[in-house]
Amino acid sequence: MTFPPLREELRGLEPYGAPQLSPELVPVQLNVNENPYGPSPECVADIAASVAAAATTLNRYPDREFVELRAELAAYLSRDTPHGIAPEQVWAANGSNEVMLQLLQAYAGPGRSALSFAPTYSMYPEYARDTGTRWVQGRREDDFSLDLARARDLVESEQPAVVLLPSPNNPTGTALPPEAVSMLCEAAGDGLVVVDEAYGEFRRAGVPSALELLPEHRNLVVTRTMSKAFALAGARLGYLAADPALCDGIRVVRLPYHLSAVTQAVALAALRHRDELLGKVDELRAERDALVDWLRGEGFEVADSDANFVLFGELADRHAVWQAMVDRGVIVRETGPEGWLRVSVGTPDEMKTFKVSLTAAVAEVTQDHATEEQA
Ligand SMILES: *Cc1c(COP(=O)(O)O)cnc(C)c1O
Repeated sequence: MTFPPLREELRGLEPYGAPQLSPELVPVQLNVNENPYGPSPECVADIAASVAAAATTLNRYPDREFVELRAELAAYLSRDTPHGIAPEQVWAANGSNEVMLQLLQAYAGPGRSALSFAPTYSMYPEYARDTGTRWVQGRREDDFSLDLARARDLVESEQPAVVLLPSPNNPTGTALPPEAVSMLCEAAGDGLVVVDEAYGEFRRAGVPSALELLPEHRNLVVTRTMSKAFALAGARLGYLAADPALCDGIRVVRLPYHLSAVTQAVALAALRHRDELLGKVDELRAERDALVDWLRGEGFEVADSDANFVLFGELADRHAVWQAMVDRGVIVRETGPEGWLRVSVGTPDEMKTFKVSLTAAVAEVTQDHATEEQA
């Protein structure tokens, strides 16, 4: 036995995470779907003042129930559903990754299973592994949509404790229609259906949020994050809306005082500036649509996107193209099906650099391969 004696199923595994290359080496960072716009000077000043106020109380533990933050998050979510969201329906943690891990800690675990449909978010199987939950993976169709009848059959036969459905999906950008969510909520019985709306704010006009379906399905959970639309990836704040009884279940497994006073203060300050932050989201959505059109015009296959990123292909040698772009100071993400790359939507300048570097990288790789073939 090697030391330290790591759990057998964890031995030899690499920790999850995209390469973090220094912005000095790679100035155009389009690989982890961050918001390229930092908070405005007014928002920064409000965050700083709020943290200063919180600092005077740091000898005390924070509000364990984060009452004020829950109320503000509920008010924010209420914009997306005619039924409104009450503070008791909201739960938050350090990023929506922690929220979903807590969901599996409370509602999955040994003897239970969790299910998603690939290609999907690569963290999901890790929550399952870390909580001793059996992992079941269904498949999406070639166009990345769900075949509803097949998806329902799989959920009915497996009866998973938790179904994880990102919508818009990462890495494909595909949103799920509300009929799909309703059908899977019914098929899941008492199992939970988690619709991960990390990119919900970026969805195209007319695409509804699963929040609207909450009154119809007591087993539905909708998760959100401040990491993407709110440009707050560095603060770590994710949350969910669900039946209040479901939030009570999570309370049993959460660590005491898991949301620091600083985190709560920062999130509250950012929420006060939501109109300005969401204004940037509209710019990013327009930039995304233009990017999809450009890629299609260049002859790439492109998945329809309701997110702040675009998956495109098919490249004969995606790793070579990825590397040739890094060499030109642009990093995108090598993820999704073989032959595809994912690019986050950046500022107009970043998008210009992306286009030039992609064109040059593809030409270089094609040239290299032609030379190899001749040799
Ligand atoms: C980025 C992302 C999240 C959010 O992660 P945080 O922990 O909130 O930063 C959740 N789900 C998906 C599918 C994502 O891509």
